Amino acid sequence: MKRYLDSEFGVRMLDICHVCRKENSIIHIEGDADYCFKCFKKMLLDELGDKNVFEYSKYVTVREPNGTLHSFLVTHRMIGQMPAWEAVEQGGEYKFSNMSFANDNGTDVVCEFLDQVLRGISSKTLRYMDPNKLRARLADKGTVTVVESEDSLLEIGFVVDGEYFSGHEFVRLLAGYEGFNLRYQVHEPTEGTLLEDEYLVPTIITRELLTEEVREIIDKYTMKRYITTDLITKFEKDFAAAELKLKIFLNGEKRREAVAAGKEIVRMINRLESDSDQFPGKLIARLEKMIFPYGADERDFY
Ligand SMILES: [Zn+2]
Repeated sequence: MKRYLDSEFGVRMLDICHVCRKENSIIHIEGDADYCFKCFKKMLLDELGDKNVFEYSKYVTVREPNGTLHSFLVTHRMIGQMPAWEAVEQGGEYKFSNMSFANDNGTDVVCEFLDQVLRGISSKTLRYMDPNKLRARLADKGTVTVVESEDSLLEIGFVVDGEYFSGHEFVRLLAGYEGFNLRYQVHEPTEGTLLEDEYLVPTIITRELLTEEVREIIDKYTMKRYITTDLITKFEKDFAAAELKLKIFLNGEKRREAVAAGKEIVRMINRLESDSDQFPGKLIARLEKMIFPYGADERDFY
C-alpha cells in the first residue's frame, strides 16, 4: 500500500523506494522520485558516472530516522579548481558544505555529501524538556553554528539542530550547567556535525608527534619503501586518523608549523612505491590540496 510522508515545506514523499519497492525511501529528488540510498547511488552512477566537474542545482528532500523531512537546495559548483557542495535547508536553518577534488569520483562524492547531510540532521544537540518542544537545553556535546544575527547586523546568533537562537536565547539553553566548564573547538563547516556517538577527546598535535605517527604507519605496511597492493587499503585506513589530525592542525592558529608537518608527510609518502597507478599519487594530490588549498602561490609563501 502506498503511504505518503508530508513535509512542512509541502514536499510529498512516498515511504518506499520507487525503484526496488522494498527499502524505505530516504531521499526525494524534486521532479524525479523517491529513493533508498542504494538505488539513489545506482541512479547517480547512470547519470553522473565518475565525473566530478559539473554544475548541479536540485531540490532534495531527506528523511531523518524519526520520519521528519527536510528540504534542501543542493548545489555543486566550481570554486577555482575545487568542486564545492552546498545544501541549504528551505524553511529551516540547516546548512552543510563540503569540498571535493577534481579527480575524485563524482558519484562517491555526492553520496558522501548526502551521507554527511543525513548524519548531520540525525545527530541532535538540543534536548527537549517537554513534549510540546517549548523548552530545550543543550546536550552535553554537539554542534552549534555561529551565524549573523537575524535582528541586528552588528550581533551574532546561533543555529542548533536547524533552529535559530538569538544570543540571549542561546544562553538560556545552557541553564542547568552552572558551575561546569564548556570546553570548545571551532571547526570549519566542511568538517561536519559531531555525530551521535562521537566525542571530542583531547589529543596533542605537534609537528614531531604527527610525523612520527605517519612514520610508524609507513613502517608497519611497507618493506624497503614498497607497499603491496593488498595493504594499501589498510594503510589508508590507518592513515585517515593522521590525516584528520593534520586537517585540524592546518585550520588552527599554528598554521606555519602545520604546513611544515604537512610538507614532511608529503615527502615521506612520496618516497613510497607500489604497483597501483593510483598510489601514492592520488593521496599526495589530496594532501597537497589540503595543505595549500589556494594552490601554488600559497606554496611559495611558506
Ligand atoms: Zn531502493
